[in-house]
Amino acid sequence: MIDMSRIEIVQFPYFSDNYGVLIHDRNTKKTVAIDAGDALSYNKALDEKGWNLSEIWITHHHWDHTDGIDSLFKRWNCKVIGPANHSTVPIRHLSEGMTEKDSFLFAETPVKILHTPGHTLDMINFYLPSENILFSGDTLFSLGCGRVFEGNMFMMHDSLNKISALPNKTLIYCSHEYTKANAKFALSVEPENKTLVSHCNKIEELVTSKKPTIPTNLELEKKINPFLRTSSPSIREKLNLPNASGGEVFSALRKAKDIF
Ligand code: ZN
Ligand code: FE
Repeated sequence: MIDMSRIEIVQFPYFSDNYGVLIHDRNTKKTVAIDAGDALSYNKALDEKGWNLSEIWITHHHWDHTDGIDSLFKRWNCKVIGPANHSTVPIRHLSEGMTEKDSFLFAETPVKILHTPGHTLDMINFYLPSENILFSGDTLFSLGCGRVFEGNMFMMHDSLNKISALPNKTLIYCSHEYTKANAKFALSVEPENKTLVSHCNKIEELVTSKKPTIPTNLELEKKINPFLRTSSPSIREKLNLPNASGGEVFSALRKAKDIF
């Protein structure tokens, strides 16, 4: 089979649990880095492929996503696209600020911006509708979601709903390998969820053999990620919140995970 896709994606780990991603357009040879926490790891991944960095797409201002911008910018003189608003620490070398409903082209691939505040106020996610791929930063993780630092619980719940509304076949690249710890919490919330139990066994195997559990996909996450399942009767029963709003159920879940 010939791979007709214009786009090639490479994911690599850095620091203790971060993932970096490179997106490469075969026709134009342009390459994007999703976030830029560690210049060394990004440069190594670029050099291994023989790709030149043309753009960096920053999801949010946290250091583990931004510390490498300076040195990558110095080497590649690349464009830096990131949040337009609310970054409590300014994004270095920002050339284009993006917010909700903004869109742009990467080579010939359309990119849509989702503003998904909660973890931070500036968080943006990059959605490639033609490829069915979302880069979810620290908003949605496999089996979990980001901690709510700068926003509030209802804001984060709304942000996750935005992601939930994307097509089921959307492939999700998130920024951290937190899946094993997330699985423990998810199992404590929904021990009777058979899809969750069998997926957690798969996670265990992957982690034991040091393989990534990312990317994941939205269809699966909707079946097993408690933070996308605030309408589930069994979760509501567990939390003793049968008639609460989705936001209230989310808030109770997130608070329980914080002290789990
Ligand atoms: Zn973060
Ligand atoms: Fe992070």
